[in-house]
Amino acid sequence: MQITDHVFSTHILEDQSTFGAMHPGGTQIYFVGDASEEMVMIDSGEPYRAWTRQILDYHEELGRPRITSILITHGHGDHIGGLDRLQETFDCPVRCHPRLAPRLQHTLGGNSVQPLRASETIPTGGGCTLRPLFTPGHEVDHCCYFLRPDRVLFSGDNLLGNSSSSVRDLRAYMRSLERMGATRPSVVCPGHGNTIIRGEARIQQQIAHRQGREDQVLIAVSEGASTVDEIVSAVYPRNLRRNLRDAAARNVRTHLAKLKQENRIVEREATYTPAP
Ligand SMILES: [Zn+2]
Repeated sequence: MQITDHVFSTHILEDQSTFGAMHPGGTQIYFVGDASEEMVMIDSGEPYRAWTRQILDYHEELGRPRITSILITHGHGDHIGGLDRLQETFDCPVRCHPRLAPRLQHTLGGNSVQPLRASETIPTGGGCTLRPLFTPGHEVDHCCYFLRPDRVLFSGDNLLGNSSSSVRDLRAYMRSLERMGATRPSVVCPGHGNTIIRGEARIQQQIAHRQGREDQVLIAVSEGASTVDEIVSAVYPRNLRRNLRDAAARNVRTHLAKLKQENRIVEREATYTPAP
């Protein structure tokens, strides 16, 4: 599927009855550049043979452009699976966040992995370049890529098409969202789910949503809720299903960790109260 002048994607739809539930809206693997000449590929999907086959078939369908590098958004298994075979087939460098580079280097051997530098631009073919943005949050080694001529932001798992991202470090994540928003993308191409048109608005929405939740958590704490469970009860609807309640508790914990880092609450024996 062609998304903009220089962006193409193969959308891998998953069997929802098995692992698919992990990736609402499926997974997208992107090819960026000029299909008649050379391109870069973004991420390599799950390590299933059927996925790697689909990626190679799509490369064939594009007319077998020369792939000059494989760019990785982060080191989770659903983004670096199949990398071994794809890197061998395309015989190109793999580029990734410096924190991920040693692990991938160990997996692939040789000199095939080159860590990204913050200020560099990566030629993609078609006279375009991609700029990497170090954007920790979903994961510490997370990286987005911005294609200026098409105003497309490849958001990895920091912003998803059909669901909300799981966040490991919320403080870093909020800063990353600001950085992503500053590129003022027209389209956001996520690692999973549908392409996001009105990309900039979606990023601002996400910032406002997380900020709103943080305000609610702070209010709950200032009104006396002092355990994760009490905060969940104060902030979320009462009759949440068990699995949703667990997800809500995880989310509240990421908010509390951020507020603690910012010295806005203090933790005493696993209870939370407003900072003096
Ligand atoms: Zn993912």
